[in-house]
Amino acid sequence: MSKKIFVANWKMNGNTEMINKFSDSKVLNSSPKKDIVICPPYTHINYLSSKISNKNISLGAQNCSHKENGALTGEISAEILKDIGCEYVILGHSERRANYSEDDSLIKQKIILACKNNIIPILCCGENLEDRKNNLSTKIIENQLSILKEISDNFTCDKFLIAYEPIWAIGTGKSASSPQIYEILNFIHEYTYDIFSQLDLSILYGGSVSTSNIKELLTIDKCNGFLVGGASLSLDSFELICESI
Ligand code: PEP
Repeated sequence: MSKKIFVANWKMNGNTEMINKFSDSKVLNSSPKKDIVICPPYTHINYLSSKISNKNISLGAQNCSHKENGALTGEISAEILKDIGCEYVILGHSERRANYSEDDSLIKQKIILACKNNIIPILCCGENLEDRKNNLSTKIIENQLSILKEISDNFTCDKFLIAYEPIWAIGTGKSASSPQIYEILNFIHEYTYDIFSQLDLSILYGGSVSTSNIKELLTIDKCNGFLVGGASLSLDSFELICESI
């Protein structure tokens, strides 16, 4: 069985005390069956980096700039992330699409720069509730992933992650059902087959993953791991989720 990937997205939460606890966790540091990625706020990436050296946890960021460098006050580039040892970056999260008007062309630039700097992109996609009710889920995902076809020549990285995160399941306590998740993951596999035939592609699910639903979610075929928001803020619950496999 291939390793499952568990990505903790701390969003705008966390502090040095939390990083101390997570980086010392025996559970997170001692599993040959899984990859753990922690994505704290930018300000704490360096501290996490200093705490996880030689450990089993990988370092991730929640975003990066769509530009290489320059006069962009407050932005952080993929090159800067690489400089502090970042291995993964979450891109196109629905909260950034909704709150910061990130569109597909901007996200495309970010993917190109992440790949150029050898940072593994975790590209988020997902439909809202209205789209799901109108049977438009696969259409929406197809639109969001179509940028990958345009930039497949720029994939200098050898690994890529796509996270299916239905917007209606994020932070609501209401995960998508296993058949709903399977249908979309299967679609993503088929849609990206040609693009990623030479690359190591993992497809994750995210949206109210918790200690109560992880066992069932782990049975979903084609699901290579999970992007965990709220439940990754407590070490106890994140450990339980990661231990479920
Ligand atoms: C997320 O926002 O990426 C996410 C998965 O959040 P939650 O687990 O809280 O639904």
